[in-house]
Amino acid sequence: MRVVICGGGVIGACTAYFLRRHGVDVIVVERTDVAAAASGKAGGFLARDWCAGSPLDALARRSFSLHAQLPGEIAGDWGFRPMTAYSGFVAADGDPQRDAPSRLGWLANGVVIAQRIGTIETTAIVHPQKFTSAVMNAALAQGTDFRRGRVTGIVRDETRARGVEVDGGVIEADAVVIAMGPWSLLAAQWMRLPAVYGQRSPSIVYDIGSNVPADALFLDCETDGSAVSIEVFPRADGSTHITALSDIAPLPLDPAAVTPDLDAIARLQTMSERLSPLFRPEKLIVQQACFRPVTEDGLPLIGRVPQSEGLYVATAHNVWGILNAPATGEAIAQLITEGAARQVDLAPFDPARLAPLDPSLLQAR
Ligand SMILES: Cc1cc2nc3c(=O)[nH]c(=O)nc-3n(C[C@H](O)[C@H](O)[C@H](O)COP(=O)(O)OP(=O)(O)OC[C@H]3O[C@@H](n4cnc5c(N)ncnc54)[C@H](O)[C@@H]3O)c2cc1C
Repeated sequence: MRVVICGGGVIGACTAYFLRRHGVDVIVVERTDVAAAASGKAGGFLARDWCAGSPLDALARRSFSLHAQLPGEIAGDWGFRPMTAYSGFVAADGDPQRDAPSRLGWLANGVVIAQRIGTIETTAIVHPQKFTSAVMNAALAQGTDFRRGRVTGIVRDETRARGVEVDGGVIEADAVVIAMGPWSLLAAQWMRLPAVYGQRSPSIVYDIGSNVPADALFLDCETDGSAVSIEVFPRADGSTHITALSDIAPLPLDPAAVTPDLDAIARLQTMSERLSPLFRPEKLIVQQACFRPVTEDGLPLIGRVPQSEGLYVATAHNVWGILNAPATGEAIAQLITEGAARQVDLAPFDPARLAPLDPSLLQAR
């Protein structure tokens, strides 16, 4: 059996890895580079039970435990480490707490830590670009074929999908998995798929060395008169990823053309410098943006594409794509090879739960 996976982000990489473990022939087709989009630009924060009470809970718990297992199975160092997570706020000018020392010694005065919201048992982090690359490399080492190219359509006969169109040619396959993140929207022209939207977020990365403790921060602060939530993730390699200020922007057709809004980056930098004296301009190493894939109901699409034998989709993981990638890859591999996912019930993520996008809306764009 041969499966073509469209997209070399974290979902495509994990799907390739688990499919190869079932002995399936796998070809990954990626338009730019492995982890070139959100999978290389995310924070990489993982939480075991922050989806409790939502349909994502079982997927997140399974994936959290796979993240803990994978360092023992795959070569490479992607900085998996347990973390403590805190919530709090940045005291505004005039607030009596403005000059009080922070509970966490590496933070500036006035950064008020209100609550511990994750422990080293329940929260962790990976470097998402290194994680995605390591999983893809493991899949390649087991025989996966990687091809750089742009998927432009699906090839079918009367009964089922038979392959994908790539740069004017055809790659034949017995099954196809769409894992193109927000660009999975394009696949709604080729099959009955609900809409997938891209939500843009800027982020910056500082290189502040490895003596910063593994403290993830979720802080409220005020900037230019509006309340903003900012997330800070120190990683094992000494880089600290900071994000805030999501906005709605048109998704460029070419993933390589995604660029940040420079005003948002400047505001993020000002907010970061207020958080800790370690976040100095000369320590800034990355300014970037990426698009999270999101559906109308906020849940991912994982499963068979309706009315299309041999077609599968795995996308729209929103803010939890790095966390949920291993269990998604495992579940899709089981669905394709055994007919059903064994560890996680995929029913809440069935693409058939949402109305398919009218393809004429895309052609008009
Ligand atoms: C700022 C930010 C911070 C985040 N932080 C976290 C976090 O801390 N924890 C967490 O769990 N998640 C986080 N996320 C979410 C996570 O990054 C995403 O959910 C996840 O990366 C999506 O992975 P993907 O493989 O579906 O898509 P992508 O990473 O977008 O990959 C899709 C791939 O498809 C390729 N492609 C597109 N079109 C084609 C085509 N026509 N042919 C072939 N290939 C194509 C693209 O080049 C791309 O490489 C964050 C997201 C953002 C934006």
